[in-house]
Amino acid sequence: MGGKKKNVAKAVLMDGSELAYVVSDNPPRGGMKYTYFTPDKKLAVQFFNKPEDANSPCIRDRLEKIIGLYNPTLSEEKGGAMGSTEQTADYFAKLFCWPVALVQSPEFGIVCPAYPPNFFFGKKSVKAGVQLDMAGKDKKSRWFTSRTISRCLADEEKGTFQTMLRLSISLARAVRRLHAAGLSHSDLSSNNVLIDPRTGSCVVIDIDSLVVPGLFPPEVAGTKGYIAPEVLATMELALDDPGRKLPCAGTDLFALPVLLYEYLLKRHPLDGPKIYSTASTEEDEFLQYGPKATFIENPKDTSNRPDDLKVTIQDLGPYLERLFLQAFVDGMHDPDKRPAAAEWEKALVKTWDLLQPCPNQDCPAKWFVLHDIRRPVCPYCGSRIRSEDVLHLRLKRPIRGRRGQWQPIGEINLYDHMPLFNWHFLANTYPDEKMQDRTMRAYVSHQGGQWYLVNNSLSGMLSPKGNLVPAGQAVWLRQGELFPACNQQDALLLEVIRG
Ligand SMILES: [Zn+2]
Repeated sequence: MGGKKKNVAKAVLMDGSELAYVVSDNPPRGGMKYTYFTPDKKLAVQFFNKPEDANSPCIRDRLEKIIGLYNPTLSEEKGGAMGSTEQTADYFAKLFCWPVALVQSPEFGIVCPAYPPNFFFGKKSVKAGVQLDMAGKDKKSRWFTSRTISRCLADEEKGTFQTMLRLSISLARAVRRLHAAGLSHSDLSSNNVLIDPRTGSCVVIDIDSLVVPGLFPPEVAGTKGYIAPEVLATMELALDDPGRKLPCAGTDLFALPVLLYEYLLKRHPLDGPKIYSTASTEEDEFLQYGPKATFIENPKDTSNRPDDLKVTIQDLGPYLERLFLQAFVDGMHDPDKRPAAAEWEKALVKTWDLLQPCPNQDCPAKWFVLHDIRRPVCPYCGSRIRSEDVLHLRLKRPIRGRRGQWQPIGEINLYDHMPLFNWHFLANTYPDEKMQDRTMRAYVSHQGGQWYLVNNSLSGMLSPKGNLVPAGQAVWLRQGELFPACNQQDALLLEVIRG
């Protein structure tokens, strides 16, 4: 890089170690902080815009706790969150841009990992001929959820329904982890979650505004469309007024489904045709997102329903439909009724197991949720799957202490080459941050009108007749068959259901 010599400064961290960073003329500036980078660009060194924020004992105290006691990206052994292991710490380090250190001089600041390169747009991110320069911008969710901008993005940037579902699972898991520790994000929005739909990954940023138990909450105004209705409705009240509702876990549980709804359905759950007030735009918006907020898919109150809804929450399958109704109908104005992040995570994972690749090459979504075997139609392009190409496995788990009794725990939609894992065959195994073993145990083969389950590495795999099926060999799946997946103690029972 010839020419100007880089102006390198040194930050002294709280433990006395030094960190070099490059001082630039116009550092990127957010609402509260501005940012420099280390020479290798792996870390961001951030200072506060206002000296009173840098000197605030509340902010310092909160950041100390966020970096230590409440840090899920650091193992408990190294001073991180309780119960955090090296493995779960590595897992969550990918889902959060979590501060790693505090700076004591030249002034108070924080050190964060820089966003991984896949969360920045490249030169070919927009459609040919579009006059929009996105190169170098970070991939805030809002670029993908805003219709105007997303229309300009190159198709490969937009991912598929499958990759959007994958990053939705990650986001629900990240929020579940925060809430499990007693933290809440307080400003979850399309600005504070970066997504990469190509790879199906996401990262939660702006962690320094977290609400930490026992400490003063940060004064976060929130972001329009993501602020819980009760927070917006009481914003005019004084901070110490008992009626004033502040950001907390319950308000994250409004913002989370708003983001999930936007990722999966490409529209905002409150943006419908209803006019709430003709007095002024401000009043109309206040009522729309605040005290009178009405879900556009509310089945009892259709006053805000657009007439052109092609794909609806019903098309996302029963698990997500139920939770969206719970969040945006029962829980719209009643925070206690909103589903917990863990429930979203579970429902999204169950929905993942119902994914079906769309046979239409030009389908905009490429994948859809095939939840109703009697109606195997892609809601995005109308393609119908032939009934002989539809097969479900119903999974049942043994009820402890009741020999021979089984409880249904889910259903999986099979397609050719589909991989299956431990959690499809064994009870009490979940594909979460604790699951180390992600070996493909079996895969589906659909040939000549027949369905087979091929053993890859499932030990003790059984056929419907109860014979051992060694690795490399297959089980023929026929309608109505019901058999334990393997001879292990926690084996699930598989039931074959045809379309
Ligand atoms: Zn389709």
